Amino acid sequence: MTIFEKIINREISSYIVYEDELVIAFLDIMQSTKGHTLVVPKKPYKDIFEIDEKTLAHLITVVQKITKAIDSKFNPLGINLLNNNKESAGQTVFHFHFHIIPRYKDDQIRFNFVNNMDKLTALDYEKRASLIKEALL
Ligand code: 5GP
Repeated sequence: MTIFEKIINREISSYIVYEDELVIAFLDIMQSTKGHTLVVPKKPYKDIFEIDEKTLAHLITVVQKITKAIDSKFNPLGINLLNNNKESAGQTVFHFHFHIIPRYKDDQIRFNFVNNMDKLTALDYEKRASLIKEALL
């Protein structure tokens, strides 16, 4: 059982900001920035590969509601949404969740995208797009 199930079952305490039949949201203990919140399905889907479409669709509407609530009360400069899947991608709690991370001046949060444009040909892009489209058929 992950720590999130214990939070859902009230076995450990947390600062819950929203709850319904399918979803719960509470403050991330780290508070990477002021208002950093996690939105979590009540069922323990491990990651994006496991969560069912209906729950995910509902969860993302809850993410939007809470994002707007945070925006209205903390007035951040921007807000990042983040979802880590699998350990190599930084997932540490193996119960699906979205991070809502309000951004402020000098908050020290860095998401470093690598730009590989100069190493790629049009054919490389075409091949990558084809593979993804093929899997979507
Ligand atoms: P991940 O690294 O899996 O994307 O995110 C897991 C998050 O869960 C981390 O940001 C971490 O701070 C948060 N977290 C871990 N343990 C607890 C806890 O006991 N309570 C709360 N509220 N958050 C936790």
